[in-house]
Amino acid sequence: RAKREGPGHYQFYTPDLTAEVADRMRLREELRLGLERQEFVLAYQPQARLRDGRLVAVEALVRWQHPTRGLIPPEVFVPVAEQGHLAGPLDRWVLQRACRQAAEWQRDGLSELRMAVNLSDRQFRDAEFVHWLGKTLQRTGADPARLELELQESALMEDPAFAERRLRELRALGVQAVVDDYGSGSSALEVLARMPVTKLKISERLVARLHDEPTAAAACGAAVALGRHLGLQVAAEGIERPDQLTFFQRYEDLLGQGYLIGRPATAEVVAGVLHRGRVGLDT
Ligand code: C2E
Ligand code: MG
Ligand code: MG
Ligand code: MG
Repeated sequence: RAKREGPGHYQFYTPDLTAEVADRMRLREELRLGLERQEFVLAYQPQARLRDGRLVAVEALVRWQHPTRGLIPPEVFVPVAEQGHLAGPLDRWVLQRACRQAAEWQRDGLSELRMAVNLSDRQFRDAEFVHWLGKTLQRTGADPARLELELQESALMEDPAFAERRLRELRALGVQAVVDDYGSGSSALEVLARMPVTKLKISERLVARLHDEPTAAAACGAAVALGRHLGLQVAAEGIERPDQLTFFQRYEDLLGQGYLIGRPATAEVVAGVLHRGRVGLDT
């Protein structure tokens, strides 16, 4: 019910918004239940070296297999989880699953394969997280040196001194940290430069604009140069078209991820691709 009673009264209390809030609250409650009932599944998307197609990593991407609403993408429920203090439980479920899968693939002979897992800002800051992760790595038998935690720039920028300490704690476990979606957030370069991370992933939002905006090419080139100057590995996300692949193939040692290389798929499907060792990327 919109209230229009003059100054001092908020006017954004509309029926539509009420419905939206109610819907979000319902979703939050369902999410809580969904976590109890383990309604989540992981998809794995391969990451390859662009020059030769060699598979180097997979990224674990969570999906919600909702009993009535169908498969819900993370963009819809991760923000809900974050608001409802469920990001921690969700991230820990994902990490546990991904570590178990990584250990299994390592036993199956994919000993060089890296596993990338996305981390919410909140979980990155959680006081118990590093200890919990150490225990989880031990319990699952996953090799810490093969685990990459993907962080948003915001996780690093909000409190850089804390972030740096946290990254060193993770590194002490043997785990590596990655800057995800680079180029679509906002980083102070001076701050980014001193963070102990090992990889920069160029945002698919930049990559998507490559063929129709010359400025996007400049931005992608600058991101590659920055990563290399900092001694980081560089990966481009969201490679869908041959022109995007060609653009990044001009650089040595670049990694890439995207539909052209491989779509996110079940562990079974991706395992087949991984055991082949490489994907054909001739343009
Ligand atoms: P992200 O980490 O940047 O993951 C890449 C997203 O791009 C994935 O969407 C992936 O499916 C999609 N993608 C891959 N290749 C292509 C391509 O060629 N073209 C386009 N247009 N898109 C491509 P997804 O799986 O829907 O995940 C979206 C975001 O949700 C992720 O972005 C990540 O920020 C978040 N997320 C996913 N899984 C988790 C998780 O387990 N925990 C947390 N905290 N966040 C997660
Ligand atoms: Mg990611
Ligand atoms: Mg990304
Ligand atoms: Mg993204």
